[in-house]
Parts: sequence; structure tokens; C-alpha cells
Amino acid sequence: MEKLHEDNEFTCDSKVKDDGDKQPSTSSNGKNNNVSDGDGALEKITKYLSEKLQLSTTDEDDDDKIEKSEEKILSELNIDGIVNYINEKKCKKIITMAGAGISTAAGIPDFRSPSSGLYHNLEKYNLPHPQAIFELDFFKKNPEPFFVLAKQLLPEGFKPTISHYFIRLLWEKGLLLRHYTQNVDTLERVAGLPNEKLVEAHGTFHTGKCLECQASYDLPWMKRKIVRGTIPKCEECLEGVVKPNIVFFGEMLPDRFHSLIEHDFIQADLLIIMGSSLVVQPFASLIDRVSFKCPRLLINKEKVGMQDRLLRLIGLRQGFDFDPKNRDIGRDVALIDDCDTGCQLLSQKLGWGEELKTLVENEHKRLDAEKL
Ligand SMILES: [Zn+2]
Repeated sequence: MEKLHEDNEFTCDSKVKDDGDKQPSTSSNGKNNNVSDGDGALEKITKYLSEKLQLSTTDEDDDDKIEKSEEKILSELNIDGIVNYINEKKCKKIITMAGAGISTAAGIPDFRSPSSGLYHNLEKYNLPHPQAIFELDFFKKNPEPFFVLAKQLLPEGFKPTISHYFIRLLWEKGLLLRHYTQNVDTLERVAGLPNEKLVEAHGTFHTGKCLECQASYDLPWMKRKIVRGTIPKCEECLEGVVKPNIVFFGEMLPDRFHSLIEHDFIQADLLIIMGSSLVVQPFASLIDRVSFKCPRLLINKEKVGMQDRLLRLIGLRQGFDFDPKNRDIGRDVALIDDCDTGCQLLSQKLGWGEELKTLVENEHKRLDAEKL
């Protein structure tokens, strides 16, 4: 079982930048493509790694025999190819995966990102590093900075985005196998996605528990304390701090995550990844759990999660391959845009444009009315 961590292994050219604008450790910016090609260094590294990892260095992949098949997986390596695939293959087991990018249009900042602005109020706490807020050991010693940050995330009135309702629409149409989210903002629940279709991989603010006696608390209870600026203390044992059930760095992901990924990904017939930079593990590596015939659509402001050339040479084909040269086996499509625009485009092309628009309008009206 793997704990929550940022993916900075196998980085070829530099450490993960610390400004929150993290790039995955792949060739996404093109820089890594320059790994000393001509001077034999690459061969040496490849040989070293393959010996260390006991991997085959042959070009033929033994274990991922992609049949250069009679039939292409996608008719075109673009959004139209995905739309044709959905219409023709009648897929019914779509998995969606989402990160902070689907919630930014709701006004929710990427709270794990030091560049989000949320950290400006925390300077007086002299954090060893910004991420310390999400480290359990630090929290146990000093929970205050976390709750100061949480207070900024809790104002009322965040409404789910077009992307959230697009996922709900997939469910209503009977096409959604499961939605995996990295977000803890509960907007999938607010959008009406049922519990059984939802995996909150990094936990949720929806519930919390006492770190001493494990007593459970709900969001309204925690919210009353946090908004007042007090640290929520357990009313059962009168000692423990009540921590929202979001997953901190170094903590295990929820059991539900581990049990469902085993069954879900292998049967998926389409994977849609939205608004995630795919740098936090083990979430990021889920994209490689689907079968080699399962198309993968990335809707994001930039290309992320791509195959590392070096790892590919030693037989590891993890990550996306958007290279049009691989058209005959191509199944990865990148729609480079913000998530809401991408979801609107996709639904229009599927003929669901009006339906999505009406759903968003009606639901937002309903949420506004509830607040009055
Ligand atoms: Zn307690």
C-alpha cells in the first residue's frame, strides 16, 4: 500500500520546482529530450538502470504486446476520434479522474500549491516548508497553520463547475464506472454524484475525526469551529484535535481507493483525466492501470504525465504517448484547454451541449435558492 507523496523520482533534468507550478518528471517541457544522445551517456545510463532494475532493454516489449492491430483504437487522434469512439463503441465504463483544475472555476484555489496565495497568511508560523502544513507530524505539534489555511477554504457559496456537472451527466447516461478525485472540496457531492460512483482519493473535508479517540465529526460541526478561528477539539475525550479526513503527505490513502482501483481500471473502456498535473502519487500512476486498448483523454491546460524517454528505452511505458507517429497504436488524446471549456466542447460534439447547459443552470439556481 502506497502513501501519498509527490512524484519526483526519475527526474532527469531538475528537481520538481518548488513554486507550485510543478511539472511532472517527464519530457513534458521538451528539455529532457536532450539527454546526451550522441555521446553514449544515455546508453550507459540505460545499461546501468536496466541492470539495477533487472529489466529487458530490447525494443520489443514482452509484457505489453500491443497488437499492431487490424483495427485502430481511435479513428483519429483528436477529440473527434474520442467522440466517434464513445458513439460507436458504446462505452459504458468510463472512468474520470480529476484534480484541482476542475474546481478552480468555482473559485477554489489549489490549496496544496504554495503559489496559490493561501500561504501568505502563514508567514508568521515559520513553517519549515509550505508542505509541512499537510504533514501529520507537524500537524500534531502545531495544528494552527492548517486551520488558518482551512478557514480560507471554507466560505459558503462555492458551486460545482461545468466539469463537475459533465461528470454527473456521464453518470446519468449510465456511462460512468467511477469518478476518482484528488480534490477534497466535496464539490462532486454537491453536484449530485452518488457516493458509490465517487472515490475521494485524497480524502475529504466532508467528515473528520479525533486524533486521540477517533470520534467522528461532520463538516458543519468542524466548520463552526474553524470559521470562529478556534482549533476543533474533541467533545468526547476533551483532548484530541479533530482533523478533517483529508489525506496528509505520508498518510495512507482511504481503503476505498485501494480496493476499488483493483477492479475498476482493468475494465474501463475510456479514461478521462481532467485538471490534474499528475505529480502526486499514487494517483498519477492510475493512468497506467487501464488496458492497452483503453483510450485516454487528457483535458488540461498543458500536456502532463507523458512517457519518459529514458524509461521507455528500458522498457517502461508509463505515461501518455501523444506522438502522432504512433498513430497505428495511438490511444492518447490531449485537449489543451481549461476543464470547463474542454467538457463543453466534448458534450457539444456528443450532442449533449444543451443538456449540460440546462443542468448547470438549474442546479446553480437550486443552490442559490438553498442559501436564501
Ligand atoms: Zn477524542
